[in-house]
Amino acid sequence: MHTLTLSQLAAGLRSQQFSSVELTQTFLKRIAQHQNLNAFVTVSEKLALQQASQADQQLASGNSSALTGIPIAQKDIFCTQGIKTSCGSKMLDNFIAPYNATVVEKFNAAGAVMLGKLNMDEFAMGSSNETSFYGPSLNPWATDCVPGGSSGGSAVAVAARLAPAVTGTDTGGSIRQPAALCGITGLKPTYGRVSRYGMIAYASSLDQGGPMARSAEDAALLMQVMAGFDPKDSTSVEQAVPDYSATLNDSLQGLKIGLPKQFFSADLDSNMAAAVQAAIAEYQKLGAEIVEVSMPTLDMAIPAYYVIASAECSSNLSRYDGVRFGYRCQNPADLTDLYTRSRGEAFGAEVKRRILMGTYALSAGYYDAYYLKAQQVRRLISDDFKRALSEVDVLMGPVTPGPAFRIGEKSGDPIQMYLSDIYTIAINLAGLPALSLPAGFIDGKPVGLQVIGNYFSEAKLLNIGHQYQQVTDWHQQQPHGFE
Ligand code: GLN
Repeated sequence: MHTLTLSQLAAGLRSQQFSSVELTQTFLKRIAQHQNLNAFVTVSEKLALQQASQADQQLASGNSSALTGIPIAQKDIFCTQGIKTSCGSKMLDNFIAPYNATVVEKFNAAGAVMLGKLNMDEFAMGSSNETSFYGPSLNPWATDCVPGGSSGGSAVAVAARLAPAVTGTDTGGSIRQPAALCGITGLKPTYGRVSRYGMIAYASSLDQGGPMARSAEDAALLMQVMAGFDPKDSTSVEQAVPDYSATLNDSLQGLKIGLPKQFFSADLDSNMAAAVQAAIAEYQKLGAEIVEVSMPTLDMAIPAYYVIASAECSSNLSRYDGVRFGYRCQNPADLTDLYTRSRGEAFGAEVKRRILMGTYALSAGYYDAYYLKAQQVRRLISDDFKRALSEVDVLMGPVTPGPAFRIGEKSGDPIQMYLSDIYTIAINLAGLPALSLPAGFIDGKPVGLQVIGNYFSEAKLLNIGHQYQQVTDWHQQQPHGFE
């Protein structure tokens, strides 16, 4: 059962080959068997079995939707009523949200079953899952390597078949990068396409939730549930949601693919370049036309991002003061001691680094030099994408500089870690959607192809992903020991 796709699972449930309770038990068992991967922070077994038996009733009554009875899992950044939401931090290790995130509500309404909450970098700050208070999740393709981050637990759960599909969030690459390093499919939607209500804020102008699954076809089914206007999120966009599955089989004849020259510079690892070129050759066979484009501002994305994201996080994380919720230090002497020790004891080193950088960039005297400059650069980057995407339908390139690296290899060097998102970060600054597709292996470890589209082109991206997955089988490979 654990190897079936979402539509096969839905068909199996409908034809009563298995019940949702049986299916849920299968995945709960696999989660328990592979606990060493540390993919889950919380397994919500009781809730899952309750939801599964409700789903079985719904299925029997014929009143069901595509995901009714299908187990999924949520990144531990989405608030879940009654079930701990830690955001990978000691600060929220005791936090039980009083409400559900809109994304969680939508999955509930669709009749999906929640297996639990997935491990992640602390407050989604990281590229390797190593900043998690709960320790890193392990890459099932090479357990001495990171799964990528911040949605590392999410990618591991899908790759090791602990859940058929999951959610992630992407502020600078956190859906695409772990998807690439674990050999799964991840979609970062257009900013504003998926509600951020109840999704714990890191950098609000960049954060976006999206689906992570084995294939583009499965991601389309998740996206159908997740997308849509939400009056509770002021940046959610009021625009009709298309049928993401309906166009998966559209022909790619005449598709114009742009290859940004800056993505293929001499710095790109030759094995990575070969994998991406091989994928692009497949698209040519499918009828696509390839052109080179130049996007000179891409080089400025990392510095601009780390000023903006840190500035926003320093503001967003000021709410964790030990007063209303979250961690509180023991026996504070006075209010200042309460604030400083609660924050000092509960935030990890990377989160503190970001808060310090952000507070600095926003201080009087530095604001103009850093924050304002970074925002200006952000506009230039958006304009660059606008220009490029007026000439071509989509852009393609690598997702990461290389395959998964060893645990500990970059954790002592923040700059090296920041550079692992060099191909993904600009897309968030522009608010565009992008897809990460499994596109081969380097040293037995998966790597991805990135497809970047114009605003609200998720259906097109999924179509492009699906067509590739009809002629390649990278997405069907399974890590040894997790078959
Ligand atoms: N690695 C980037 C960061 O640490 C992106 C993380 C993310 O997308 N949440 O900010």
